Amino acid sequence: MAVDASLDARIREWEERLAASANSQPPLTLTPAWWQERLLHWATNDPEFRIKLLRFVDVLPTLRSARSVADHVRQYFRDSSPGILQTASGLAAQAVFRPVLSRAVRRGVFSMAHRFIAGETPEAAVPALRDLARDGVASTVDLLGEETLSDAEADAYLGRYTELLDTLSTSAAAISPRGEQWASVPAVNISIKLSALCAHLEPAAPEFVSKTTRKRLRPLLRLAMREGAFINFDLEQYRYKELVHRTFAEVIGEAEFDDFPHVGIVVQAYLRDALQDLHWLADLAKRRGAPFSVRLVKGAYWDEERIVAAQNSWPVPVFERKEETDASFERCTDALLDAWPHLRPAFGSHNPRSVAQAMVKARNTGRQIPDVEFQMLYGMAEGLRNAVAAAGYRTRVYVPVGRVIPGMAYLVRRLLENTSNQAWFNVGGTVSSIAPAPPREEGGRRAEPAFRNAPPAPFFEPDIRERMSASLARARRGFGAGYPLLIDGRRVSDRPSNEVRCPAEPGAVVGQVAQANPQDVDAAVAAAGEAFLEWRELPAYERAEILNRAADFMQRARFDLAATMVFESAKPWHEADGDVCEAIDYLRYYAAEGERLSEPVPLGTVLGEHNESFHEGRGVTAVIAPWNFPLAIITGMSVGALAGGNTAILKPAAQSPIIAYRLVEILRDAGVPSGAVQYLPGPGGEIGRALVEHPGVDNIAFTGSSAVGLGIIQAAAITHPGQRNVKRVVAEMGGKNAIIVDDDADLDQAVSGVLVSAFGYAGQKCSACSRLIIVGSAYEEALERLKNAVASLVVGPPDDPATFVPPVISDDARKKINGYVESGLTYATLLVQTDISHQNSYEVEEAPHYVAPTVFTEVPADSPLAKEEIFGPVLSVSRAGDFEEALEIALNSTFALTGGVFSRNPRHIELARAVFRTGNLYFNRKITGAVVGRQPFGGLAMSGVGAKAGGPDYVRQFMQPRVVSENTTRRGFAPEDSV
Ligand code: NAD
Repeated sequence: MAVDASLDARIREWEERLAASANSQPPLTLTPAWWQERLLHWATNDPEFRIKLLRFVDVLPTLRSARSVADHVRQYFRDSSPGILQTASGLAAQAVFRPVLSRAVRRGVFSMAHRFIAGETPEAAVPALRDLARDGVASTVDLLGEETLSDAEADAYLGRYTELLDTLSTSAAAISPRGEQWASVPAVNISIKLSALCAHLEPAAPEFVSKTTRKRLRPLLRLAMREGAFINFDLEQYRYKELVHRTFAEVIGEAEFDDFPHVGIVVQAYLRDALQDLHWLADLAKRRGAPFSVRLVKGAYWDEERIVAAQNSWPVPVFERKEETDASFERCTDALLDAWPHLRPAFGSHNPRSVAQAMVKARNTGRQIPDVEFQMLYGMAEGLRNAVAAAGYRTRVYVPVGRVIPGMAYLVRRLLENTSNQAWFNVGGTVSSIAPAPPREEGGRRAEPAFRNAPPAPFFEPDIRERMSASLARARRGFGAGYPLLIDGRRVSDRPSNEVRCPAEPGAVVGQVAQANPQDVDAAVAAAGEAFLEWRELPAYERAEILNRAADFMQRARFDLAATMVFESAKPWHEADGDVCEAIDYLRYYAAEGERLSEPVPLGTVLGEHNESFHEGRGVTAVIAPWNFPLAIITGMSVGALAGGNTAILKPAAQSPIIAYRLVEILRDAGVPSGAVQYLPGPGGEIGRALVEHPGVDNIAFTGSSAVGLGIIQAAAITHPGQRNVKRVVAEMGGKNAIIVDDDADLDQAVSGVLVSAFGYAGQKCSACSRLIIVGSAYEEALERLKNAVASLVVGPPDDPATFVPPVISDDARKKINGYVESGLTYATLLVQTDISHQNSYEVEEAPHYVAPTVFTEVPADSPLAKEEIFGPVLSVSRAGDFEEALEIALNSTFALTGGVFSRNPRHIELARAVFRTGNLYFNRKITGAVVGRQPFGGLAMSGVGAKAGGPDYVRQFMQPRVVSENTTRRGFAPEDSV
């Protein structure tokens, strides 16, 4: 492409001029207080201190006493920090200095925050907006706040936005800059976030999100029309982008608003799809027939986007190098200017080059574009801003308003930018980062880890949702099919069958499943014994190849498999998809483990002898599985056995046999011989038991309730005539898991973590949270937020992508759970119960098995609610005086499966790490959703015996170790290399 040299020269000229103005002021124009400058200087130069400072600033507003502030100062800044802070941390140790220290620290951080936040309330912010207007600069006001976790909080946000519009409208004249370029522009301009107005921002359900959010947007838009104000829709994380686009398009397309021009939306240039987004918006504006504005920005969630992508094994949606983002900004500038007058351009950047090229290009289009605007953040880049305004351009500042506590996330982001060695004012760096760069190999290629988790389906992509919907339709068409037993090479269908009904539509029979009898058990065990010898002798890499092939098949069938679970087990979309991913992970991870363990390992270095140890299969494994992870767990147990050279007989739970049938089909299609993997559904008490007691069974892999598990351990201890091996039992059992919320916890994070852990899949997870312990001063606020959030949970059928809480697995389960709730009402206090009355308008026998999510407080420590595994959406909350007491309550259980702590107190985190003994302990995150290879899973105490699923010891427990030693000496001579 021929570069227009004169255009480039003009851009350079402007860039230099703007850069000179930007640099005429210090890049950090923070308050003059010397120590603030010092702090930021240290933070810029010392990455470790920078992280401490950011974390401290983040936690500070939630510290409710001088003692607590002092304690945190001590813990965060005791070691390896600048001298003055070490001194402060020394003072913090002495009670007499604490109040003064606490006041000083608070004042310092809050005044730092006020550099970037114009005021706590709209009224308080007006003077700052007036000052801007006097300088010829307009504003767009953003409300800071907590994350919206409930409808009540979304309504409160709507109230605050309304108040904001009202307040600003009464000051419209004062906050509007003078000059003809402002004549046609609303003086009042606010920026809103979809996440503030919707409690259930479900990326898989744009229709639902748009519908619920538009109810709150309409009154705002009406008010804006009445007052002649402007509303801009901000963009947030990538996974919510389509939700914003969809809602924006639908609401501005409604007849009432379809000619209202004073609306706008953001395009984030750091996104790889940025240009595509711009084209889409231009088309939207053309179709609508009325223009709207687009604010082109680089994007503010760069670190988070990279973290989320890495954790989900998704492609990174943002450009990873600053130059790429800059180039994208320039491409988008062209497209945005091209789309005028349908799109009205606003450029949000602090980069002199980006601003210069937009200025020059806007003039170069050959058209008079009257409404080019430049936007910058409040408290930053003031030199640049003044230079742009002085050049006669419309200049607007993005002004956050709100309390400092919920505004901390915003402050931390600004501090990140201001203390990054690579921030915008340092030429050539990346936007910002505290995350280390991904590992790279010599040749510039990224180092690939040996095992990679299967990425969850990105349901925020429309074509992925379409594939899932198509699979659901296909699964429905297959309702009522028959499923035979699979014994050796035979498909046995002439047995009485069991109807599997859909928990959300009990009138619908998902399938008819043949039920095995004791003779079938004998036949299957005999075939498995015979197949064992051949399967064990197969080289481990060949077994691994077969299992990896099965993983590929599963990957290809992922949506069909997920759809089966949606109907058979009432798993909502994400849960069903997660189940498939975990199953794929087990196949790949255990395949590699089987190979590793089969490899002989030489032992010792003594001359004249050769020793080696290796592992091989033990024999026939009975796999007795639960229904709640209907594919993942049965796959894990079967494949753990198969990878180690054993054969497997699968006895699925009565509630979920169909998905297990699909698994056996996949394993056989991939090459596992028919005798090595067999399918034997039937009643647990009869078929499960017969397998456990059978002399031909060598290993038992069980996951299920503690009652059944303990019975199996007992039964397996009895030897029967003809038995070859002492039976080895791996039993993963129940839980009664607790989460502690410390008094300095981030409540946005804690409440949403508790919600997901306690009510995801209606609480039917062994890892689910059923006890919540809140420490001291956090109690009231945490409880209030939890109460509102539980009242807003979306309860519905699992095939609806908006559903968060589906029906429970069966009518029996529903009755049992409701029994706990009813008796709980007699001895505990009901905090909240989600209203599910709209779900119960069915005929009795057709009624889905809904159970209302329920939370109790004042639960006696020895009551069934506090002690027993309920396996449903029921949560008991207790209050602890301090963190130590919280730990005591948490540990008061015979189970020890999972546990969680939300805290920002390093000492408490250390203490919990040492004494909160559960199989899996999680800090500052949900306690469900363990990932293979990263969080190997399994319990202690009465929660299980056996090595952790998805960890390096799992396959070994199905294998026997052998050691072979050879004397390599012949007549006093031994080869040197024989050791
Ligand atoms: P369950 O104990 O009722 O049934 C599990 C399996 O055992 C089923 O296949 C069942 O048919 C079979 N069974 C029942 N009685 C038997 C007997 N006498 N002999 C042999 N087999 C018998 O459990 P469930 O309701 O399917 O699953 C829920 C339970 O599983 C919960 O307690 C949950 O905590 C636990 N669970 C634990 C983990 C874990 O990893 N620790 C994971 C998932 C589920």
